[in-house]
Amino acid sequence: MKNEGGRMKVEAKKGEPRVVRGTALETAKPKRGKFFMTSYTPQLRYSWDAGQAISRYLEELRQGRLIARRCHGCERVLIPPRMFCERCFRPTDEWVYVRDTGTVTTFSLCYVTWDVKRLKRPEMPSVIEIDGASSGMGILHVVKGVRPKEMRVGLKVKAVWKPSSKRTGSITDIAYWEPIKGRR
Ligand SMILES: [Zn+2]
Repeated sequence: MKNEGGRMKVEAKKGEPRVVRGTALETAKPKRGKFFMTSYTPQLRYSWDAGQAISRYLEELRQGRLIARRCHGCERVLIPPRMFCERCFRPTDEWVYVRDTGTVTTFSLCYVTWDVKRLKRPEMPSVIEIDGASSGMGILHVVKGVRPKEMRVGLKVKAVWKPSSKRTGSITDIAYWEPIKGRR
């Protein structure tokens, strides 16, 4: 394309017009009102489907309960729940409530926050195997109420729930986990 006197000339091609009417922006004086301009902030809203199993799981968390799925093929109780058993290659069969107590199976003493600020008292992210669910799986969460030196694999813990008015249907509806006294 060539710009000639405010009109765009197009190299001649078969079946196309030789001249495109209009004014090229680079030759128009960019004064206010010379041509139409607009600006806006895009509303980038979207919905995310958590899926059948996790949607129910999150709704039960809002009610202060932990729910899992049982597979009749391997008889495992899966938490977080899933509608398909990856071991049996078949759909899982039923919903089962499990307890809000469990056992620490692995943990970390974390002396920095997520944005790398130093902490004097470490956070203790842990994987907690849930009572009533099968072993070998668990929930990643945070344990509090135990001294870092006393933190250990095998510690029995119980969920500390947020008050029901503060729950939103999230894993953080459990504020943290704390040791069960007398079950160390
Ligand atoms: Zn199975």
